[in-house]
Amino acid sequence: MLWPGMIANHPWSSLTMEYAMKLPMPKMTNVEIAKFWSYTCRTGDENCWLWFGAHTGAEKEEYRRAYFRLRENHYIAARLAFYLTYKVDPGDLEVCHKCENKSCINPNHLYLATHQENMEDYFINGGQPSYGNTRLSSMEVDMLRDKYSKGIKPKELAEEFGVSKHQVHMIVSYKQRKNF
Ligand SMILES: [Zn+2]
Repeated sequence: MLWPGMIANHPWSSLTMEYAMKLPMPKMTNVEIAKFWSYTCRTGDENCWLWFGAHTGAEKEEYRRAYFRLRENHYIAARLAFYLTYKVDPGDLEVCHKCENKSCINPNHLYLATHQENMEDYFINGGQPSYGNTRLSSMEVDMLRDKYSKGIKPKELAEEFGVSKHQVHMIVSYKQRKNF
């Protein structure tokens, strides 16, 4: 499935990504801030706020990011969302996703970590996304999504798979993406 932003995909090289990771956060006018948030739908604290703007190319998964163009610079959207919400420039730290959804810019799903911590989270997880505290295998995630698509209620799925209703929601709202 194509994300709306994928139409404007640009493959980024590792250099471009490194540059974007270190760009100091800009001072933004109210108009620019409003424009930034207009690229997502802020649908409550729990849900992922998907970025409808541009994404970097999906050729290399690790470089796949939602980004926002502002005055000739390309900012990683999650970094801007973090900055605008918490008034903290992430600086050398990476803005990571608790929901593992790189298209999400919900500040409640974002946290700061060093690059190494981010990689450790990923490998401890066996390269699988974590949904909150409980880790499901990719097979379980598929099963859960399948059952949800057949109309089984999130509450029942949460009990069956031993996860919270919130986690169920994260998993099923994330069904567009197969790879991380
Ligand atoms: Zn999210």
